[in-house]
Amino acid sequence: MKPAQFRYHAPKTVDEALAILAEVAPNDGRVLAGGQSLVPMMAFRLARPAHLVDINGVDALRRLEVADGKLCIGACVRHSAFHKPVVDGPLGQLLTAVVRHIAHYPIRTRGTFCGSIAHADPASEWCAVAVALGAEMVARSTRGTRVIGADDFFAGIMTTTLDEDELLTEVRLPLLPPDSRFGFYEFNRRAGDFAIAMAVATYRVSDGGIGEPRVAVGGAEPKPRRIAAAEQALAGHAPDAASFRVAAERAAAAVDPMEDATTSAEYRRDLVGTVVRRALEQSLR
Ligand SMILES: Cc1cc2nc3c(=O)[nH]c(=O)nc-3n(C[C@H](O)[C@H](O)[C@H](O)COP(=O)(O)OP(=O)(O)OC[C@H]3O[C@@H](n4cnc5c(N)ncnc54)[C@H](O)[C@@H]3O)c2cc1C
Repeated sequence: MKPAQFRYHAPKTVDEALAILAEVAPNDGRVLAGGQSLVPMMAFRLARPAHLVDINGVDALRRLEVADGKLCIGACVRHSAFHKPVVDGPLGQLLTAVVRHIAHYPIRTRGTFCGSIAHADPASEWCAVAVALGAEMVARSTRGTRVIGADDFFAGIMTTTLDEDELLTEVRLPLLPPDSRFGFYEFNRRAGDFAIAMAVATYRVSDGGIGEPRVAVGGAEPKPRRIAAAEQALAGHAPDAASFRVAAERAAAAVDPMEDATTSAEYRRDLVGTVVRRALEQSLR
């Protein structure tokens, strides 16, 4: 199918994009970033925006740099930017380990980091990373700028707290301390498919015990979230098979898994235990 008719807008600056969005958002106007989710939905007529505001010509949105201890990822930075570490240390390595799980190579050359965050698919790898690390989302409109914490940003399946006239101009990820350990693991039936469940884990070690544990699960519930029970099971314990197993069991018990035609809630719950354990095991490599 071909998309329904729409009006195309191609702003060159952020201010121009915000002015157009303020005008067209109330009349079914949508931002077009990499188009890797929106365009297929339009082709199937699951989405019929009356206006598309294409931000690809806004150079300022290509920003990818470290400022104030955070990696700032502009709205036009593609997934493929992370094929190589974009920053020294564990954060750059974590993003490189994660990116290869997102879709397929051609999609990664076009789809954007911020587009994934704004789209808020429960099985988005970047959304799980954003929650795990406590990302900040920078939302701008002609009314001003808001900085939204990851915990307050995701509202449910493909739903965020962005207002319709707001542009997600950048996402800021805190740098991980140099001694941080990290792991990521996801399960899908075929390479490139959306994950049925995934886990991101980071922590530090002091005096042989785990400190600052962060464990986030994606793909299992309507939105990604950190699992406090798993983090509590790790804190202060040695990073070994025994503590990882307990954390995995706590995570599986804590989730309220989604169910669909091919995957039962019980199967997903079981999988959450497995992905959490394997993500933690990855941290020892
Ligand atoms: C076959 C296939 C497999 C895929 N597999 C995966 C996968 O395994 N994991 C995964 O995470 N993704 C996957 N994707 C989706 C892909 O990663 C998309 O790139 C991503 O979801 C959306 O980014 P985009 O830049 O393409 O956004 P677009 O498609 O342009 O936009 C998506 C939505 O977000 C809004 N939006 C985009 N940018 C902004 C912004 N800056 N501010 C406000 N709103 C904005 C748009 O208005 C639209 O509603 C897959 C896609 C395909 C086609």
